[in-house]
Amino acid sequence: MKDIFTARTLILALLSILFLFLLAGCQTSTKNGALTADEKDAQPILVQGPMPIEAQNFAEKLENVEEEKSGNFVFYKGTVNDYPVIVMKTGKGMENTAAATALAIEKFDPLAIINQGTSGGHDPDLHVFDIVLGKRTVNIGSLKTGSLEDGEGIAPKEWIPMDLMASEGSAGEDPDAENIRYFEGDKELLAAAKSVKNTHEKGKVVEGTIGSADVWNNEVDRIQWFHENFGTSVEEMEGAAGAQIAKAYEVPYLGIRILSNNKTNDGEYNPDTAETNQEYVYEVVKKYIASKAK
Ligand code: SAH
Repeated sequence: MKDIFTARTLILALLSILFLFLLAGCQTSTKNGALTADEKDAQPILVQGPMPIEAQNFAEKLENVEEEKSGNFVFYKGTVNDYPVIVMKTGKGMENTAAATALAIEKFDPLAIINQGTSGGHDPDLHVFDIVLGKRTVNIGSLKTGSLEDGEGIAPKEWIPMDLMASEGSAGEDPDAENIRYFEGDKELLAAAKSVKNTHEKGKVVEGTIGSADVWNNEVDRIQWFHENFGTSVEEMEGAAGAQIAKAYEVPYLGIRILSNNKTNDGEYNPDTAETNQEYVYEVVKKYIASKAK
C-alpha cells in the first residue's frame, strides 16, 4: 500500500516537471513566431473554399501556417492578427463540404465557420463581382417530384420542396416534409460582414438567399423558377451542405458568395472573382475577431 503511494507521488512529481518543461517550450516557441498556449486554446475561425482558386488566396494571407491533410481535404492552420484561423480546401460539391465540415468541427472545435467562393446569379439585379451574404441558405436539390405514370413525361415545374430535416420518418410520405428548409446565417457574422461592406469596391454587397445543389443550372426559366419559388439570389454547390452540418452542431455559420457568372443578365463567368471574394472575407474575419475580442 505504502509502496503504491510513493510510486504515485513520484509519477505526479515527474508529470509536474514534464508540464513545466512543456510550458517553457511553448514560451520559447513564441519567439519563433509559433502560437502561445492561450492562442492555441482559442477556438479557431474556419474559412471554407471549394476549389484551389477559392482557398489559396486566403491561405497565403495566414501567418504561422501549418498544413494538414485528411482525405481530399486540406487544412491551412494559421493566424490572422494573432488569432487562430483555419482555411479549408473542401473540394467542390455538397458531399465534400458536409464531410469536411463535420470533420473540422470534430477536429478543431471552431468558434465560427465562413463558407465562401463563387456562385451563379439567380437575381437579375445582381452582377458579376457583386457579393451575397447568406442571410439564408437552402438546398435546391432537395425536391419531391409529382406522381406521373408510365409515358406521362416529366414536369420539373411541379416539383415541390422536400425538407429532409422535418422528421426522422419517411420524407416521401410525410406532408410536414413538403416545406423549404432554410438555414439562417449567424447574426454576429452577418453584422461583421455588413460593417466592412465598403472595402469591396468592385461590386455591391447585399444580403440574400444562397441556394445549393450538385447541379449547374443553365436553363434561365429554371433559374427564374428557383428565384421565384425559393427566393434564391445565387446558386452554388456547397453552402447548404455546410450550413446543415454546422446547424447540427450549433456552430455559427455564414455563406459569403461572389457572383462569378449570371445567366439571367448575360454575366460571363469570370474566375478572378474568387480572389476578390477572399479579399473581402479577409476583412470580414478581421472584423469578427476584433468584435469577439471586445
Ligand atoms: N464542371 C463544371 C464546373 C463546376 S465548378 C463546369 O465546368 O461547368 C462549380 C463550382 O463553382 C462549385 O464549387 C460552385 O460552388 C461554383 N459555382 C459557380 N457558379 C456556379 C453556378 N452557376 N452553378 C453552380 N455552381 C457554381
